[in-house]
Amino acid sequence: MKCPKCNEQIMSFVDFYLWSHPFSTKCKKCGVKIQPDSKIKKTFLLEVVLAFVLFGIVDLTLGIISLKGLIAYILVTAIALFPFEKYSWENGSYKEKE
Ligand SMILES: [Zn+2]
Repeated sequence: MKCPKCNEQIMSFVDFYLWSHPFSTKCKKCGVKIQPDSKIKKTFLLEVVLAFVLFGIVDLTLGIISLKGLIAYILVTAIALFPFEKYSWENGSYKEKE
């Protein structure tokens, strides 16, 4: 993921996967305000919906208010969201915020 201004790497894929969000951020190198494009935003919305659905499934099967349920939820969600994050990473971009 490159900065639209200085063309430096904004963040690593791991950072993107763990901390990506649909809001604006700053380039760590040049400090320009940047925002994700609609692909990243739409994919994020899908991920939120998916996370809620998985929450319901885990709650119905294991019960979310248990250590087992909680661990299962975190693992299942991390795996399920991975392809979406990868899609965003490969197809999305950041643009300079006006
Ligand atoms: Zn920059």
